[in-house]
Amino acid sequence: MEVNHVELVMSAVDPVQYPTTGYPEIALVGRSNVGKSSLTNVLINRNSYARTSSQPGKTQTLNFYNVEDQLYFVDVPGYGYAKVSKTEREKWGTMIETYLTQRDQLKGVVSLVDARHAPTEDDVQMYQWLAYYGLPTLIVATKSDKIAHGKWNQAVSRIKKTLDLPNTDNIIMFSAPKKIGKDAVWNWIEQQAFG
Ligand code: GDP
Repeated sequence: MEVNHVELVMSAVDPVQYPTTGYPEIALVGRSNVGKSSLTNVLINRNSYARTSSQPGKTQTLNFYNVEDQLYFVDVPGYGYAKVSKTEREKWGTMIETYLTQRDQLKGVVSLVDARHAPTEDDVQMYQWLAYYGLPTLIVATKSDKIAHGKWNQAVSRIKKTLDLPNTDNIIMFSAPKKIGKDAVWNWIEQQAFG
């Protein structure tokens, strides 16, 4: 999709605040610092629309971005913070669980992992959870420019194995600075959103 117009329409903590427009929604999930803001900025052709997170744990809201009056990107606050309290973590859990399990408009989830390492315990839990609820999920491996191209297959295999995926079809190697993987991610999103 060629994106010219994007607007943050709501930072929600509660279902009554979700937009009522009815556009399909694509959620983006991942650990803090994995590169979610950078991915979002590449997808929407901006340099700094989605704020890159200098303060992990600060944005504990679901941020709904209206993309071209056609769909919403829903930025789910990053998991795996060391700093937030147990109460905060529980609140976060309830908020995203409510959204991910009860939202009819949600058509797919883009789950980010760091290409340089095996998915973490948090990443595995998130993936298993999404699979359990039957949510179509794309795994985007960020920062792939930081590993040699000759090791990409190895990185993809490690992700497949750690997440226990049946195949590598839904894993995309991505690089924000090089914009590698942008079209593949968009293709998947459009397929889920508009079928
Ligand atoms: P977020 O917390 O998940 O939103 O992560 P950010 O998008 O803020 O990225 C965290 C850090 O990783 C920043 O310093 C980014 O510049 C860097 N980063 C994100 N994506 C990439 C990538 O694809 N390649 C490289 N080399 N760095 C990246």
